[in-house]
Amino acid sequence: MKRADIEAFFATLAAANPHPQTELEYASVFELLTAVLLSAQATDVSVNKATRSLFVLANTPQKMLDLGLEGLEAQIKTIGLYHSKARHLLQTCQILVAQHGGQVPRTREALQALPGVGRKTANVVLNVAFGEPTMAVDTHIFRLGNRTGLAPGKTPLEVEQQLLKRVPAAYLVHAHHWLILHGRYICQARAPHCWQCAVASHCDFKPKTTSKSS
Ligand code: SF4
Repeated sequence: MKRADIEAFFATLAAANPHPQTELEYASVFELLTAVLLSAQATDVSVNKATRSLFVLANTPQKMLDLGLEGLEAQIKTIGLYHSKARHLLQTCQILVAQHGGQVPRTREALQALPGVGRKTANVVLNVAFGEPTMAVDTHIFRLGNRTGLAPGKTPLEVEQQLLKRVPAAYLVHAHHWLILHGRYICQARAPHCWQCAVASHCDFKPKTTSKSS
């Protein structure tokens, strides 16, 4: 994708949705970290359903530890991989209490040292909670980066690095949300909805789909 098209691509997405938000529900940095950790290979809808009641019981690392493994598992058992997620979350809470005064650290190094927190989760927390221009490459962004020609790469890390290089500075902070939402609702995995796409004239994908062909 050419530089002028990249600028226009993001200008269009920004005009349609100036303040994009994560669809995960949270009221603190700890709740955000918890929700993102639980969302691996699960939908945001399923995570929100579980965390609405979980956060009433436990909205701090210490309260989460007080729930215990069985208590936590009972709250999140509707979410895929809940056994290992519960274990990782409690181990993470132990470290937050013991090493960070019960707070979520704001460096990549400290975040990625937490059990269950990989590069993508750290990128989401750094971006959403602390406003840093990180690019959390999930399945939607990986697909979009390659399909549109915006940021081709063989691995999520390659796509992340391409995006950081190619997305204009003015759009960096919100870019990952615009791309996730565009991938979730328009540029879908099975068949992109090119005929409904506001950025179709800036995207390299060919041939564009029409409503009849999808
Ligand atoms: S034109 Fe089609 S392939 Fe390109 S971003 Fe839009 S939906 Fe995706």
